[in-house]
Amino acid sequence: MDPFAKPSEERCQAALDRLCELRTGYEPELEFFDKPEFIWAAESAGGVFCPFCAADIESWFFEELRYREERGQQDLVITTPCCARSTSFNDLDFEDRQGFACVTMEINCRGADLESFEREEIEAVLGVPVRVIWRHL
Ligand SMILES: [Zn+2]
Repeated sequence: MDPFAKPSEERCQAALDRLCELRTGYEPELEFFDKPEFIWAAESAGGVFCPFCAADIESWFFEELRYREERGQQDLVITTPCCARSTSFNDLDFEDRQGFACVTMEINCRGADLESFEREEIEAVLGVPVRVIWRHL
């Protein structure tokens, strides 16, 4: 998925409506950001690991994230601290799905994760691939 993707508000609203039908969601919310925001899976989220050497880089990740926000850095290009390889912030190995996006659609719901065909339906409405992130509150 592309963390810089910004489907139109109309498409996003249609996708959110469909999501609410699929999972009986409460308090649906659509948010747009100027640059990719980190979408956190909340405190219960698992670790953050290097996609190349599997090193635990969670504390580096949050430090780097704060540093970039302070500088207003827009791109997501990083060099891993463990093995010095180039990748995207969005492609780190998040134990629980997390990631970066310019648009979020959020609903409050219980229940099962989206099936692949359901996610694909949402993606068709939006016109871009999505990443489903569960935030446990
Ligand atoms: Zn590494």
